[in-house]
Amino acid sequence: MTDCLFCKIAAGEIPCNKVYEDEDFLAFNDINPKAPVHVLVIPKHHLASLNDADEQDVGLLGLLMDATRKVARELGVDNPGYRVILNVGKGGGQEVFHIHVHILGGKILPF
Ligand code: AMP
Ligand code: ZN
Repeated sequence: MTDCLFCKIAAGEIPCNKVYEDEDFLAFNDINPKAPVHVLVIPKHHLASLNDADEQDVGLLGLLMDATRKVARELGVDNPGYRVILNVGKGGGQEVFHIHVHILGGKILPF
């Protein structure tokens, strides 16, 4: 997608504070952190939201969760744990329409 902020970040056209990268996924610090650790995990492939996924995206969605697990472990928030948030659509608070998982951690999070 030409006019997508996270596609531009994935392509290296817009800088980010990268914490993880592999062939298909990228993770970087959220520009407006809501916790001591607040990282976004994105697929490099553009998919607007979970609402836009179909059967063909099942593999991508599974791998996105696996990348999230790896990033959390590399960041050291796997113990005592962390929160994963996936905002879906405007009603879910989604602002950037390129699917991304929020990892929040680094403290005991309030409910
Ligand atoms: P969401 O509301 O789930 O769409 O989350 C979008 C997130 O992207 C927000 O937490 C923003 O702070 C974050 N964000 C927006 N622009 C950037 C950017 N250039 N670099 C890093 N994070 C960003
Ligand atoms: Zn995109």
